[in-house]
Amino acid sequence: MFERGEEQEESKMPIYEYECKRCGRQFQFLILKKDDEMDLNCPECGKKELKRLISRVVYHVSEADRLEQYDPNAPKSDSFYRDTRNIGLHAKKRAQQMGIDLGSSFEEKLEKLRTDPGSVIRDSE
Ligand SMILES: [Zn+2]
Repeated sequence: MFERGEEQEESKMPIYEYECKRCGRQFQFLILKKDDEMDLNCPECGKKELKRLISRVVYHVSEADRLEQYDPNAPKSDSFYRDTRNIGLHAKKRAQQMGIDLGSSFEEKLEKLRTDPGSVIRDSE
């Protein structure tokens, strides 16, 4: 899915697929650090009894693709917010629509937030 030509540099995302042992819900999650998996719980029932289905799936999705597909008015599921790649997407889409340039410091902060969600909170304390 989302495969495109090589006209732009695309980011590779280590995405793992899981199944909840409780309710059977299957979902995918981006694992950047090994610790991320420890904090995982089922988006359906919240339990941590998960089984990894496939070792690793790498998606080639550029942020431009995500922004293009993102609908700010569509209802979001919990898994949307748990996917760190979606952090900041809403703000960026809105800014894009209004023709506002958020600047490079916003990009930096976003990148930090996506790779280490706790860091921004720690910084502001
Ligand atoms: Zn579940």
